[in-house]
Amino acid sequence: MSNHFYSRPSNGLSDSSTAPGPVAHSPEELFQCMWGYPHGLHCNDLIRGTDLPNHLREIHEIRGKESARAECKWNHCGREFNIGSLCEHVEEMHMGIAYFCDCGSKFSRRDTLSNHKKNCSG
Ligand SMILES: [Zn+2]
Ligand SMILES: [Zn+2]
Ligand SMILES: [Zn+2]
Repeated sequence: MSNHFYSRPSNGLSDSSTAPGPVAHSPEELFQCMWGYPHGLHCNDLIRGTDLPNHLREIHEIRGKESARAECKWNHCGREFNIGSLCEHVEEMHMGIAYFCDCGSKFSRRDTLSNHKKNCSG
């Protein structure tokens, strides 16, 4: 057996209070989709961070109202979110994507960055 997954300890509760990871990734990078299928399989498609919402909608059928509930199956995560926040959760917690302002500040979400930009003189 040789699985090349980034295997984190999978007790499901380990990463709620700590930073996603030591390295921040740009949304332009390629990521391996770890959306879980039955029998322990994963999607394994290579997707760009910016394509995640499309990919989840087209391939994994995460669609509907922003307020509808959907389960995060990334690495068999199992947490439930509104569809509107599911992508942000995956980007932030599972892919480690961060958004950078020109001033060098780092944000984990796009909307936080755009809020910051309104006040940022850099
Ligand atoms: Zn996928
Ligand atoms: Zn998740
Ligand atoms: Zn700034």
